[in-house]
Amino acid sequence: MISVEQALGKILSYVDVLGEEERPILDSMGQVLAEDIYSTIDIPPLDNSAMDGYAVRSEDTHSANRQSPRFLRVIDTVMAGSISECEVEPGTAIRIMTGAPIPEGADSVVRFEDTDEAKRKGASGETGILREVKAGADIRRAGEDIARGSIVLRKEVVIRPQEVGVLASLGRSKVMVIRHPTVAILITGAELVDINQPLSAGKIYDSNTYSIAALVRRYGGIPKILGVALDSEDSLVAMLQQGLDADMLITTGGVSMGDYDVVKDVLAKEGEVVFWKVRMKPGKPLVFGRIKGVTKTGIARSILHLGLPGNPVSAMITFELFTRPAILKMLGKKNLAKPTIEAVIEEPIINEDGYRIFARAIVEKRDGQYFARLTGHQGSGILTSMTLANGLVIVPEDKPEVKKGDIVQVMMLDWNERS
Ligand code: AMP
Ligand code: MG
Repeated sequence: MISVEQALGKILSYVDVLGEEERPILDSMGQVLAEDIYSTIDIPPLDNSAMDGYAVRSEDTHSANRQSPRFLRVIDTVMAGSISECEVEPGTAIRIMTGAPIPEGADSVVRFEDTDEAKRKGASGETGILREVKAGADIRRAGEDIARGSIVLRKEVVIRPQEVGVLASLGRSKVMVIRHPTVAILITGAELVDINQPLSAGKIYDSNTYSIAALVRRYGGIPKILGVALDSEDSLVAMLQQGLDADMLITTGGVSMGDYDVVKDVLAKEGEVVFWKVRMKPGKPLVFGRIKGVTKTGIARSILHLGLPGNPVSAMITFELFTRPAILKMLGKKNLAKPTIEAVIEEPIINEDGYRIFARAIVEKRDGQYFARLTGHQGSGILTSMTLANGLVIVPEDKPEVKKGDIVQVMMLDWNERS
């Protein structure tokens, strides 16, 4: 049976980065930039004041101090967004607000705190300068943030709020990014009922459609919900036709050894099985391959298919381990790994059969150290355990036992997002 790393390596070797699309900047959050961004303007466009104060000629402040102020005649006031038509000549000053362009003749700004402004409250006439300033004082230079013609953001950058802000500061309203993958979700199981239908005897609600669609969205994909197929090859084949135009197909259920576990048989008939079963727990019966078919619009396609186990916890954990990195790679992202930390385990874990165990855990930081304890019953049908967990404790396949107090690796599901 192949290892988690081998399985992931196989999957990623079949996954390509998707094409580009143009998006409004605010809608590009989390996507990967597909173009180098150059500036056509200087930012700031003009030398401007870093403070509220007076624009002066620095030589006019020579030897000024609180005991013997230098008095300058105030000839104008200029605020951000306007340009003063006056020129600062020897013995004069212009009142200036933060962000306003530096007037002709001035080479520095004296902030209000270093003048007798408080006493005068902006009355026209004179200002007393209480401190000597050097040329360039409190001036923000044109182009000091971004120089015209320079490269500002490079291809492959992931767009965050600050990148959105920088794009806006350049006057860009749209940007080229790698598009979102569409992920078709097909659920199998004759026992499953859609949440909008009444529950009849022997049936359960289909939760996988929703947990998997939520995961797809969380990691930047667009879920395409196909519904629930019965446990027959005909039903499955008929329903998966609707998903052939997606970038990837996810199924849940029907991959075990039972009489009605037909997903891998369908995959073998309609395409190719790359692997079935991974040395991990939960999630062992994972199947991966490609399904060939013809889309509704008549195009022959081969679509990647990850067949996740049906148990709600197994489906979510195998998604985190295998589908998430595949989605991130399609999105053009380079960092595909979930953050992993080291923690002290607060209870023993037995690993009887040599699988890699991913145990749902609650991780807390105390006295600068992470501690992990299990969520309780680790059955792969106990979906509420996932609501308690913020991490998965990893027990290596060659470790038969983890003792209380051992240091373990924990893959974090959430990172400081929980209260
Ligand atoms: P399977 O892998 O199809 O044998 O399913 C394993 C277990 O998970 C069974 O108890 C199923 O009832 C349960 N299960 C499978 N699919 C779903 C689903 N979509 N929602 C909730 N439970 C499911
Ligand atoms: Mg089933």
